[in-house]
Amino acid sequence: MKLVILGPPGAGKGTQADFIIKKYNIPHISTGDIFRENIKNNTELGKKAKAYMDKGLLVPDEVVIEIVQDRIVKDDCKDGFLLDGFPRTVAQAVSLDAELDKLGTKLDRVININVDQSILVDRAVGRRICKTCGATYHIKYNPPKVEGICDIDQTPLIQRDDDVKETVETRIQVYFDQTSPLIDYYHAQGLLLDIDGDQDIKKVFEDIVQGLNN
Ligand SMILES: [Zn+2]
Repeated sequence: MKLVILGPPGAGKGTQADFIIKKYNIPHISTGDIFRENIKNNTELGKKAKAYMDKGLLVPDEVVIEIVQDRIVKDDCKDGFLLDGFPRTVAQAVSLDAELDKLGTKLDRVININVDQSILVDRAVGRRICKTCGATYHIKYNPPKVEGICDIDQTPLIQRDDDVKETVETRIQVYFDQTSPLIDYYHAQGLLLDIDGDQDIKKVFEDIVQGLNN
């Protein structure tokens, strides 16, 4: 089961990724996690990636591709993997195809979790967090018992800086602009599995499993 998962920020991609790797017993390859780990351990790769990120630049394709190439040839990927955060561009997708081709294999499916832009904005803008215990709330969908106060430890709740409307809208727009050519690319290959992400998380997962079985 060689899979890619796509979904805009706030679509619940991380939750579904966790469900998928457990059910199919495949490793979760998140390029974001790999970068963060390498930066934390101050490896050569970490230094390279950090240099770009410090300047506010995206890590270039060749660096990301190299990481993924090294990762997918490892033993635990023999029966499959779930790629998350990669590919982000058609160029990356083309090089992934070439790499898999060299290994005599190919992608099975690309899971695309769809949620309307307005719903994503609503979810993010209403989010409130507790700095003390890390609990998250939503002013509409999961409000605390007392407005603005954490149920667990009575700490006043805060809104993260990047959950303000403009920032959220920009983040989501960037995602859609960047990803739509990629979605077209996989759609043309017949690999795309479109999933309605605006449902209960269990139902979303059921749809994914059903789609993968077909
Ligand atoms: Zn709390």
